[in-house]
Amino acid sequence: MLEQRYEAIRQRMGAACARANRDPAGVTLIAVTKTHPPETVETAARLGIRDFGENKVQEARAKIPLCGGALRWHGIGHLQTNKVRDAVRLFTMIHAVDSLRLAEEIEKHAGLQSKRVPVLLEVNVSGEGTKFGLGPDGLNEVALAINRLPHLELRGLMTMAPYAEEAEPARPYFRRLAQLKRGLEQKLGAPLPDLSMGMSGDYEVGIEEGATMIRVGSALFGERKSAFHAAADEGPP
Ligand SMILES: *Cc1c(COP(=O)(O)O)cnc(C)c1O
Repeated sequence: MLEQRYEAIRQRMGAACARANRDPAGVTLIAVTKTHPPETVETAARLGIRDFGENKVQEARAKIPLCGGALRWHGIGHLQTNKVRDAVRLFTMIHAVDSLRLAEEIEKHAGLQSKRVPVLLEVNVSGEGTKFGLGPDGLNEVALAINRLPHLELRGLMTMAPYAEEAEPARPYFRRLAQLKRGLEQKLGAPLPDLSMGMSGDYEVGIEEGATMIRVGSALFGERKSAFHAAADEGPP
């Protein structure tokens, strides 16, 4: 089941890369395992998947220690400052930095843990009130401040397109994120390698518009049911 889904996604990723004249090696599939147990991670890892995404620190804290080593874990969800210590400990990359205050908290804990943390800034391109993320207007200013924090490595931008049944409506938001990245690179005078954009319903459009990371959950693992809770983890996810 998973194997067939993974194969189909890889083919579609390859086709999207071909359409956009891109090297498939430049796009990383992040398998989003939220609500799924460690056994699912293990099965995916056996297929060769190495990058995994979780959107809640509490769930990640319960799950990651039960999964094998040599996997890269991406924190893809909104992060509260009181969860930063664990997030810095658990995640290879944090995708959803949406304020200078959060970045400064990451800086503090990264320093305490003697780490340098790769981060992406989440941009609310659509301006929807229900979404987290920096507005496009204030982005450069915040990014310049974050770029000065010594224990953070600013790697690029991340966004979520508004929910839609079809993939195509996501295109203008992804295109705009790529444009914002180019503008920010000019300001910084340095390249930003990563664009995290595209989920199960729109990852091909993400790739066509320049995504270097796509975050795919349900297209790989099926519809999400109830949340995974490890016995040692108390409280809601
Ligand atoms: C859940 C989630 C995804 C994956 O969503 P699917 O539609 O199941 O692929 C991607 N990004 C974030 C931030 C998520 O929370």
